[in-house]
Amino acid sequence: MLSSQQFQTLFDATLNRYCEARFLTPSQLSDTQWYQFLATLSHQTVLQHFPANAPLANTRKVNYLSMEFLIGRLLGNNLLSLGLYDETNQQLAKYGKNLVDILEQERDPSLGNGGLGRLAACYLDSMASLSQPAIGYGLHYQYGLFKQAFGDEGQQLESGDGWERDFYPQQYHRADFRQTVGFGGKVSLISGDKYAWQPEWTIFGEAFDLPVVGYKGVQQPLRLWQGYSESAFDLATFNDGDYLDAESRVVDAAKLTKVLYPNDNHAEGKALRLMQQYFHCACSVADILKNHLAQGRTLEQLPEFEVIQLNDTHPAIAIPELLRLLLDQYDLSWEQAWAIASKTFAYTNHTLLPEALEQWDQKLLTQLLPRHILIIERINDQLRQQVEAAFDKAEFDAAWQETAVLFDQRVRMANLCVVGSFAVNGVAQIHSDLVVSDLFPAYARLFEGRFHNVTNGITPRRWIRQANPKLSALLDQHIQGDWTQDLSLLNQIEPLAKNPAFQTAYRAIKQQNKQALAAEIEQTLGLKVNCEAIFDVQIKRFHEYKRQHLNLLNIIATYQSLKANPQQDFVPRVFIFAGKAAPGYFMAKQIIQAINGVANVINQDPDMQGKLQVAFLPDYRVSLAEKIIPAADVSEQISLAGKEASGTGNMKLALNGAITLGTLDGANVEIAEFAGNENVVIFGHTVDSVRELREQGYVSKTYYEQDAVLKQAIDTLADGTFSNGDTERFEALVNDMLNHDYFCVLADFASYREAQDIVAKRYQDQTAWVESTILNTARLGAFSSDRSIRDYQTRIWKK
Ligand SMILES: *Cc1c(COP(=O)(O)O)cnc(C)c1O
Repeated sequence: MLSSQQFQTLFDATLNRYCEARFLTPSQLSDTQWYQFLATLSHQTVLQHFPANAPLANTRKVNYLSMEFLIGRLLGNNLLSLGLYDETNQQLAKYGKNLVDILEQERDPSLGNGGLGRLAACYLDSMASLSQPAIGYGLHYQYGLFKQAFGDEGQQLESGDGWERDFYPQQYHRADFRQTVGFGGKVSLISGDKYAWQPEWTIFGEAFDLPVVGYKGVQQPLRLWQGYSESAFDLATFNDGDYLDAESRVVDAAKLTKVLYPNDNHAEGKALRLMQQYFHCACSVADILKNHLAQGRTLEQLPEFEVIQLNDTHPAIAIPELLRLLLDQYDLSWEQAWAIASKTFAYTNHTLLPEALEQWDQKLLTQLLPRHILIIERINDQLRQQVEAAFDKAEFDAAWQETAVLFDQRVRMANLCVVGSFAVNGVAQIHSDLVVSDLFPAYARLFEGRFHNVTNGITPRRWIRQANPKLSALLDQHIQGDWTQDLSLLNQIEPLAKNPAFQTAYRAIKQQNKQALAAEIEQTLGLKVNCEAIFDVQIKRFHEYKRQHLNLLNIIATYQSLKANPQQDFVPRVFIFAGKAAPGYFMAKQIIQAINGVANVINQDPDMQGKLQVAFLPDYRVSLAEKIIPAADVSEQISLAGKEASGTGNMKLALNGAITLGTLDGANVEIAEFAGNENVVIFGHTVDSVRELREQGYVSKTYYEQDAVLKQAIDTLADGTFSNGDTERFEALVNDMLNHDYFCVLADFASYREAQDIVAKRYQDQTAWVESTILNTARLGAFSSDRSIRDYQTRIWKK
């Protein structure tokens, strides 16, 4: 570590060199140049002065395989972790500069879609902070998630995000770590278990390392692979054209990692995506084996020293890939290879949604990966024998239908993961229970002890310390010990929840954060919002199961009620939205456009000024989340029960003093348990009552016909009020709600409105409200990702 004196010297010397090279003096540097200078300085400081690689203790080294890492801006976070944040601010002050402004110059590397990628980033932070030896393996997409803007009619517009094109100094190319990856070609049987694969094409994988800096811990790499080749290859020769558009038949290898697929909780089944998956796994597994063997260890020792944690099924193909290397390259028998691989992998399930459970066409997989399909077939045969032995004849068909890896010409990746892993976990208690009871009951019988829960968490370094410096300072004042490292220490403020001075301070901070967000909203949207109003926040990907349209229907109904009865007692609200829809997800894009349409009308209505306002901030990303979350009063977590595996936005918001308005879904259940039922507002159907609803035959139209308020809200969406008289714009959304409504928005509407009334009533008693929000902060320390990582250590990664 660097002393403060050493850092000052380094700062001055580096600044001199930076300025000399540009024939500038420090006073002539732009904020962008200050950022470039600081980012380079920080990167060098990390590499040269911060310890690398924690030693192995009681756990194995974790190889965290994820197609997505939504890491957000690094500079502020790294300076904090290095303990150089205040120091840097002081240095900058000498030049009349403010660190917060400089940090705004950094672009988010948006190498993920949403919660799954952000979880991976929080886990890397926690592992480095807890000195859990780990390496993150992902892909170096040239374009991350698209940038979002809104068109004249409120529709989502997408543009490419070349995140590293201008300048991105916090990574380095590891030319010596290059891997070679094959695709297509032929497999020949040599003898017995032995096969030889001659791929038709090969692509190089180039490694880029981004150091992950743990809080007072170590730095360890996030290693991202980028595709590279001198020649193009023709995908059309190994499929019949079903999978690809005509113009994308020829794929040049550099394109392999060009874009991140923009789907959240939805599998698209495209050949290029499968190629990305295999490329990611082949590079990573080879790197893991290389490092393992370089330490003089044997292949048999692999599970003793390494674990490969699969973040969802996207890296599932790593299982047959490791088997392939052990069998074909290292000449082990099937039994030896299986014994090693099946003790090395652990799998995290992230969803029960059928459209998100990956299944690959067997023909496509055979053409792209002819050796791997043979291995998968062998796994499937071996499994069949086990299922036959464990279930009697009457049960077999049902059990096999659930457990088979190969079924109906499809390769079921979740099944491959369950069979090939020694541990499987869900991401919140209710979700882990549903994995066993609904998704994989036969597996749970077959593989006793394999299924676990590890409830997700969030890193307090980014989501409290960095995002909410004012709250952090208050916590520092009142907490003994460093809560940043041990979030359970937050419980020390519980006794202060009723203390008037503490309440005043806590409330003043929320108010200042609301003013800062209001300034951001005004700058972005030109909308002046009332900071005395409830800031009611729903920020997350747009998906029907998350039900932003339930929120919207309530806003419309509230608007109509205020128009009809302007004198009513009303607690002012600002509804704040942010989130992207996958470009190919029509219904989600309809919902975005409808929110913008409604916002436009409400915000321009003079009767609504300061009473009811709607702010939809474009381009949701980590750095925007950091601005919205500290300012939220209400956290909307309103997915249909049973559909949100965990959620992590719910944790960020609650810890920053927002009251959860939610269904009994995902981690909301545990948040309510920890915070206390009186400090959250729960509404809507439960997993069990949704089941009953469906068994009775759910007909959404009945709710529409029997609830005049609901009827009027939907009719107004249809009649052009929010679309400049265009009665067709929201037709698809309206039709879906009336005739389909798979996510039961209409069934939860009345209950949601009652819950919103409860929120408004509670907010009017500010003393009780602030007490409740303090208790949320005080009682939710368990939602630190440090706790999640410790759960992984004791339940899954232990030796
Ligand atoms: C936390 C986070 C998410 C996940 O939000 P949920 O509400 O749990 O879906 C998605 N995107 C970003 C940028 C985040 O920070």
